[in-house]
Amino acid sequence: MKNTDKCSFCGRDRRDVTLLVSGVNAFICDMCAEQANLIVREELKKKGEFKLNKSKLLKPKEIKSFLDQYVIGQDEAKKFLSVAVYNHYKRLMQNSKTEDEVEIEKSNILLVGETGTGKTLLARTIARMLHVPFTIVDATVLTEAGYVGEDVESILTRLLQVADYNVEAAEKGIVFIDELDKIARKGDNPSITRDVSGEGVQQGLLKLLEGSVVNVPPQGGRKHPEQKMIAVDTKNILFICGGAFEGIEKKIAQRLNTQIVGYGASKNRDYIDKDNLLQYIAPQDLRVFGLIPEIIGRLPVLTYLDPLDREALRSILTEPKNAIMKQYIKLFDYDGIKLEVEEDVLNYIVDKAIEFKLGARGLRSICEAIMIDAMFELPSGDHQEMIISLEYAQKKLEKANVKRLKAA
Ligand code: ADP
Repeated sequence: MKNTDKCSFCGRDRRDVTLLVSGVNAFICDMCAEQANLIVREELKKKGEFKLNKSKLLKPKEIKSFLDQYVIGQDEAKKFLSVAVYNHYKRLMQNSKTEDEVEIEKSNILLVGETGTGKTLLARTIARMLHVPFTIVDATVLTEAGYVGEDVESILTRLLQVADYNVEAAEKGIVFIDELDKIARKGDNPSITRDVSGEGVQQGLLKLLEGSVVNVPPQGGRKHPEQKMIAVDTKNILFICGGAFEGIEKKIAQRLNTQIVGYGASKNRDYIDKDNLLQYIAPQDLRVFGLIPEIIGRLPVLTYLDPLDREALRSILTEPKNAIMKQYIKLFDYDGIKLEVEEDVLNYIVDKAIEFKLGARGLRSICEAIMIDAMFELPSGDHQEMIISLEYAQKKLEKANVKRLKAA
């Protein structure tokens, strides 16, 4: 090797590098070799990440147990989700086999439940264990093409980004569309005036749900003529939708009532649980709410989330794998402080969340209000222990601005 030899990649002289490895007609320096190694590992990892391996796939029961670690209750929704995800994998594996088999069609899902009952949490938790690209989008930002807001195609842009623009991987992905109820048609009659964020968006979405080849702007945003589009086939993309569908209980009740008094009603009809009418939700209720029948038809799996009662809220505080209380214990632990929260404090927090009508979302803001002073002061002292008593919690929460908590 001569001193004038250069790295064929970066052009550095032999004298400027620690090591120069020679090949048949080229040289590579230690730095470029390391860089190349890094690139190779990254690429292999990406490829492997979305590779389906039958032996590694979890069965529906295992998927549900996994969800149980993070999400309290909601057994029905968990069961439907687990089966849907498992079947999604089966369908993807089937595609690579012979063509004369029975084709498994995808079953997009709709989760209906009050806000703060865990719809997004379920979606996020599922995402932790998936072997396919996954993204969460909010239907409220979508508008009909040509209006301010995002085109429905932007949903696929996100998926492409998650898949690192690997179109083949994106085409097998799962998309969670939150707040689907916000694109329901307002009012009962199809409007003559433009319904920018309603039916037009539903029509756009339908194209994605039913499976078609869609031209997607790679960077998102508005389509413009110069932008090069990426064609994405949505046939195998699983869509999970969520929404609160506020007020739909009334429509369910109306339907149930007419069924009861109507022709053919049976006297021994099952008891109706008026406190949780969502469990009786049926496709026709969605139609009355303002979803177009075609969209409803493309969301064949319809399931619900239960409202969270006192017991569920109490469990949410301490039981999930990353429960709020576990997080505080860890935070204090960093400073060598052992945090202890007395049992009646936990019940008090739940009572306040119910009193302020804050639901599960409010648990954290109430905890924050109670803990903030301790989190501010204690790290500077030489405390080894912090006990939160009911008296302490009450004092801190009373001091906090309750109005602000309610707005959270
Ligand atoms: P949604 O999407 O239904 O409006 P989220 O999933 O965003 O509600 O819930 C808000 C927060 O409340 C979550 O981040 C979580 O901390 C808590 N939470 C809600 N429901 C549950 C549940 N069933 N189990 C555990 N935590 C929950």
